[in-house]
Amino acid sequence: MARAEGAGGALHHLASPGAMSAAASQLLPPGSATLGMLGGGQLGRMFCHAAQTMGYDVVVLDPDAHSPAGAVAQRHICAAWDDAAALDALAASCAAVSVEFENVPAAALQALAGRCRLAPGAAAVAIAQDRRREKELFARCARQSSGVPPAPFMSIASEADLAAVPPTLLPGVLKTARLGYDGKGQARVRSRTALADAWEALGRAPCVLEQMLPLAAECSVIVARGADGQCVHLPVQRNTHRAGILAASEVYEGNVPAALAQQAQAAAEDIARALDYSGVLCVEFFILDDDSLIVNEMAPRPHNSGHYSINACDVSQFELQVRTLAGLPLPAPSQHSAAVMLNLLGQVWFDASGQPRTPPWAQVLALPGAHLHLYGKREARAGRKMGHLTFTAASAQQARRQALRAASLLGIAPF
Ligand code: ATP
Ligand code: MG
Repeated sequence: MARAEGAGGALHHLASPGAMSAAASQLLPPGSATLGMLGGGQLGRMFCHAAQTMGYDVVVLDPDAHSPAGAVAQRHICAAWDDAAALDALAASCAAVSVEFENVPAAALQALAGRCRLAPGAAAVAIAQDRRREKELFARCARQSSGVPPAPFMSIASEADLAAVPPTLLPGVLKTARLGYDGKGQARVRSRTALADAWEALGRAPCVLEQMLPLAAECSVIVARGADGQCVHLPVQRNTHRAGILAASEVYEGNVPAALAQQAQAAAEDIARALDYSGVLCVEFFILDDDSLIVNEMAPRPHNSGHYSINACDVSQFELQVRTLAGLPLPAPSQHSAAVMLNLLGQVWFDASGQPRTPPWAQVLALPGAHLHLYGKREARAGRKMGHLTFTAASAQQARRQALRAASLLGIAPF
């Protein structure tokens, strides 16, 4: 059980890591090192599980006293991101630190850099925090190596930018450059008037306007890259979104055309290389009506679409995060079962008339191949990610069939 404490809490037994003398890729031995996590959400929680399985202790920094990761870490430093004493405590107790959400303030990463190993590094996280820089990077990678471009886009930061929007970018999607997630901070706009109104409604924040594209499907790729540059990837995930939130990921042979899968994997690795990235990186793609591929965005961490790997692969995305952080070997992951993952959002805890309910777990868990993961969140709210359910099976058809049964039991629309 974690011991939650404020930043001023005693620094007990944890040995000084002597961190920066360690070369970036030096191995931190399983069983004796302490790893740190900036962020206490579900991704941090699943990182803790993977790290602890391999004998590492984990210290989580998160301001929420009831954070999902804080509850399972050996130690929870409960403090704000910009709390200098808390960052000192984290750096002093951990040989290496990773992140589980990209909006950790740059200053927090800077405070840690130079004091302990940081993977991913502050520069890569800073690019992932800003859609403009992210899309510029994608455009550069497309020209120089991968050939997979982002959607046509332009930066919107002034009235003059609005006036200069070319007709080809409408209809379009206006997205805030910073802090957007799960479809928040974005608006679909069909006309110049709608664009101006949407920018006003977004508080005239710096934005990116991208052309609205005819999507046939969405997919993502998780890559893991060591400090020595070795890079491996998980199979391509085919993703279904609803209301801007991931609803389901399907991962099996033929989920997307093989040529596109290879192209996406190569593009994701090119992006990781261009960033000199260290850690786990997820790159999201659109497949268009004409079977061409577009790179949409990246997350400098494990991703919701990669959760299936816990049950369907020999190495999960969280173990890959541990391995890259600790300088352990990175064998190429292999998938042993077809998988379909369903997100369990807060609405699953309410019945059709809006009354709170306990989801029918006994019926769901009677389905073959069901793996339930709940994140320990106390309050269910619509749209809140409470857990996920992965179905593994010998064939795609079987995994889909059981997942559709579960969806029906849980009141999730079929996909
Ligand atoms: P995430 O939670 O993945 O970080 P986000 O809020 O950062 O999401 P995006 O991934 O850029 O935003 O967009 C959310 C969804 O909106 C996409 O998964 C896609 O379904 C749709 N979308 C985004 N951009 C476009 C576009 N240019 N054309 C068509 N659909 C789009
Ligand atoms: Mg997205």
